Amino acid sequence: EKGIDLKEVCDYKLAKDNELRFEVETGARVKLDLIDGSAELFGTELVRSRSYIFESGAKIAVFTWFGCSLRLTGKVEAAYVSKDTPMVIYLNTHAAIEQMRKVSEQKDTLGPRILVCGPQDVGKSTVGRLLINYAVRLGRKPTLIDLDVGQGGVSIPGTVGALTVERPADPVDGFDLKVPLVYHFGHTSPNGNIKLYEVLISRLADVFNAKCDFNKQVKHSGCIVNTCGWVKGQGYQCILHTAQSFEADVVLVLDSERLYNDLKRDLPDFVNVILQPKSPGVVERTREMRRDAREEKTKEYFYGPRKIYFPHAFDISFSEVQIFKIGAPALPDSCLPLGMEKEDTQTKLVPVAPGIDLVHHILSLSMAESLEENLVETNVAGFVVVTNVDPERQVFSVLSPAPRPLPRNYFLIMDLRFIDIHK
Ligand code: ATP
Repeated sequence: EKGIDLKEVCDYKLAKDNELRFEVETGARVKLDLIDGSAELFGTELVRSRSYIFESGAKIAVFTWFGCSLRLTGKVEAAYVSKDTPMVIYLNTHAAIEQMRKVSEQKDTLGPRILVCGPQDVGKSTVGRLLINYAVRLGRKPTLIDLDVGQGGVSIPGTVGALTVERPADPVDGFDLKVPLVYHFGHTSPNGNIKLYEVLISRLADVFNAKCDFNKQVKHSGCIVNTCGWVKGQGYQCILHTAQSFEADVVLVLDSERLYNDLKRDLPDFVNVILQPKSPGVVERTREMRRDAREEKTKEYFYGPRKIYFPHAFDISFSEVQIFKIGAPALPDSCLPLGMEKEDTQTKLVPVAPGIDLVHHILSLSMAESLEENLVETNVAGFVVVTNVDPERQVFSVLSPAPRPLPRNYFLIMDLRFIDIHK
């Protein structure tokens, strides 16, 4: 209970279908207790025997279907109860998806594949989490596909990944991220490398299909694909590509009539495109808040939830590993070798000579065992961050959640940097 202002206590009585929304003040921590009745947090049921402690900046909604009493201890920003929520609509969506799962089970066909899309700050990740949690609570094994490279839902920012979920998300720590399948992207927006982004989407779809082939429960449970908030121009093309790659049955558009109409026009008739409202509770985030959230997520990767662990620090000699960047600088058409298309350069592996420029960059450790494998489409084992480079001794220093030895030898460098100020 360190850092919680115990003098600030407030009780709330919620009528059925209401939700308590609160934000934790910067630098503070807040404790939430369920005193009476039943309540859920983004689809996970709360229990009375546990206190839930939220960190600085968390934005939370606790919803009750039947009424409850809650207690908040600590400094909150703007805590209020609202009855204006789209939860009944989301619950109906869940019921319709569950119906599709039942049919797929009976006929042994592919389960429902749902795309969640919409502009920034409409609650896409939250709706995704809700639908996954509701499915898990019915004993399903849905797969969360996260394409939001800006926030990194199943790993750190700058990656895409898939996670088959068997337990509801922890109200504080989110989904158990021990076994996600993660791919290196390297940028925080798809336009950092559109071609690579599309290649990875297709790859994830293939991998998910393969998993469906040998696991019936995964097959019938289907997937929820969380997309990123870039919905114009090439971002829109990416959504179409995603719907096609995953053979989406349902496209859930949050809060954008324009996007809804465009998708209805451009997707085949058998795709059920539906428009749903966003929750008025979703908090808009500034650029700085997004950057902070990214940093927080990365820090969590190295230090564990609530920073309970310390990463290992060690040196890696230049000769021990090879570092690559994905994507060569685009050449003007006239300079391209005959028969090579401009796009090819975007997925090309370019060797990076280790030097002082590496400092603070995040490196993904590829699972590839040899360069015969396609590193671009191979998943990663984990990440290190470079803290120092010593050209004289020909070594660089890293922080890593796992100790030596490195299980593999090929690194992919991210655009993303992380400056460790934990100390
Ligand atoms: P992005 O554009 O970054 O992909 P998004 O559309 O996925 O964002 P979320 O990440 O789901 O949006 O939600 C934004 C923030 O709002 C999160 O911090 C989330 O915890 C908070 N939030 C979501 N729903 C509610 C609610 N009903 N009440 C209060 N806060 C909420």
